[in-house]
Amino acid sequence: YVQEALHENTYTETEAMSDAFNMMMGRLKVLDDSRQEFVSNVSHELKTPLTSMKVLADALLSQEEAPVEMYREFMGDITEEIDRENVIITDLLSLVKMDRSSPDLNIQSTDINELLELILKRLKPIAMKKNVDVVFESFRPVTAEVDEVKMTLAFSNLVENAIKYNHEEGWVHVSLNADHKFFYVSVSDSGPGIAPEEHDHIFERFYRVDKSHSRELGGSGLGLAITRSAVIMHRGSVKVESEKGEGTTFTVRIPLNYIV
Ligand code: ADP
Repeated sequence: YVQEALHENTYTETEAMSDAFNMMMGRLKVLDDSRQEFVSNVSHELKTPLTSMKVLADALLSQEEAPVEMYREFMGDITEEIDRENVIITDLLSLVKMDRSSPDLNIQSTDINELLELILKRLKPIAMKKNVDVVFESFRPVTAEVDEVKMTLAFSNLVENAIKYNHEEGWVHVSLNADHKFFYVSVSDSGPGIAPEEHDHIFERFYRVDKSHSRELGGSGLGLAITRSAVIMHRGSVKVESEKGEGTTFTVRIPLNYIV
């Protein structure tokens, strides 16, 4: 359109340049707004545990002679808040590393069956605490060119969520399959499900369907954002299928060979 209009002299070069400049400024503003929103979210998230710790410490200090049990209880609560702060910072660092324009990728030929088995082994204790049955089904051996650390983060977050949001004695089903081009990992659970109108939002940084419930469970709100970044870095895709009250299935598709 611009080319044609320029040719017919109905649109001067100066006008074209000014429109292009305005469009670029518009894009930069969107980027700047989203950066500012991120910084403000980060500050808020980091301040929440700090505020709780301050309240607890002040309460202890205000007591002339606090009983030992009170000390123990409040110190226990402070330790929990420190753990929360730690999870947020660790997740933030992982995300920021992956969000760089040229992130470090350490691509290696990796046995995906082994990688998934190791993740499930690591998460077994939290599944056992809730009596959640975790089953792994592999339809074939799969070797793929991936960054092991980042893939581990991506799948760990999905399996951890499937356990974390599940009810006592629920189940989680992890399956692995492949064709000649891609491998597919799906993580299904018998949990509370996610309403379809939330599906686009859950991958956003710090978005939680139920904020206080997620905090109680120790979530940073960054898990799915990390999964999505790691998957995109591998030129893959992730989709969610879920209805409220019907459980959830996340499916990840990753190319077997890393495409530069
Ligand atoms: P969080 O740290 O809160 O778990 P995530 O980014 O991992 O953050 O997930 C975003 C939100 O998506 C969660 O707060 C939760 O509400 C919802 N969610 C994620 N996975 C599941 C699941 N398997 N079942 C139900 N809800 C889920």
